[in-house]
Amino acid sequence: MQIQAAIAKRPGADFEIEPLELSAPRDDEILVRIKAVGLCHTDLGVRDNPVGLTLPAVLGHEGAGVVEKVGASVVKVAPGDRVLITFRSCGVCPKCQSGQPAYCGHLLRMNFGGARLDGASSFVEGGVASNFFGQSSFASHALTYERNLVKLPADVPFSLAAPLACGVQTGAGSILRALDCPPGSSVAIIGGGAVGLSAVMAAKARGCRPIILIEPLEARRALALELGASHVIDPLAGEIAPAVRAVAPTGVDFVLEASGVVAAAQAAFGYMATRGALGLVGVPPGGSKLQLPLDFAITFGLSVRGVIEGDSDPEVFIPELLALHKAGRLPFDRLITTFPFNQINAAIAEQKAGRVVKVVLLMD
Ligand SMILES: [Zn+2]
Ligand SMILES: [Zn+2]
Repeated sequence: MQIQAAIAKRPGADFEIEPLELSAPRDDEILVRIKAVGLCHTDLGVRDNPVGLTLPAVLGHEGAGVVEKVGASVVKVAPGDRVLITFRSCGVCPKCQSGQPAYCGHLLRMNFGGARLDGASSFVEGGVASNFFGQSSFASHALTYERNLVKLPADVPFSLAAPLACGVQTGAGSILRALDCPPGSSVAIIGGGAVGLSAVMAAKARGCRPIILIEPLEARRALALELGASHVIDPLAGEIAPAVRAVAPTGVDFVLEASGVVAAAQAAFGYMATRGALGLVGVPPGGSKLQLPLDFAITFGLSVRGVIEGDSDPEVFIPELLALHKAGRLPFDRLITTFPFNQINAAIAEQKAGRVVKVVLLMD
């Protein structure tokens, strides 16, 4: 069928919306009419520095929409179902079997392979990479898989749901699942984008205190205070460690690095408490390295760990996040600004300028 897709053609260049011919769903595939799709940093990161797949490509990995058609072996959803499309996992490897699908042994091939697993693109035209995160949802329609999908209740708008697929579950899951910060623990979050601010809200919901957001943009610091941060720090105003220690004199129990700025992650060693943990979710330039002060790390029992998708098991965690939102304890709707799909490049410019936090593109 003919669809409309925003195609990434060259690193750094605008997306171009053009018709493409999408294959019919195979037995294990599901055709979803996309109603809303979030813009995540990884879309732009892959466009500008393609790894795993080659351009041209259809990106997009926070889709939400309505199932139109299912392949013969699909049982989880049926045409008409409202769905969120999150990352893809295999469901059978040891990590998937133990409730850690974000660390699926086939994650890279299933999400960044640029094609179906047999190497064929979902697009009939040769040469356009597909299957980004098992969906390529910067498009009017996407082919996806049962493991990607979480059914949405009738009262959840697609534009609200879309960011749960990656950004919100990454930020909230980092606090609630990966670091599993206990109530009363102290937390510093570096970076006030969609991931960092979702982490702020989750830390508030968990009962952490203090909750310190480190972020250079004034508007985002102000928003963080409204969303649950107890303190905010402008990293451009001076040394970060003394500013954190002014709030938490013995350091903080948890640091979540959501900015991708290596120097900001490095500075965390200056304000972690004894037995403190540093979680890394912000994606820095390829090849970046942290210098771990070994004597310090050993003496004070520090730990450092990377986090993908907030350690989420979407089938379990997305409904939990929706319930928190419904209860008013995770107001991530406040991060969202919607744009028509055909304004994707203007929306990216707004996001890059820091004037909006989370872009969600609407199909009609
Ligand atoms: Zn797996
Ligand atoms: Zn993402």
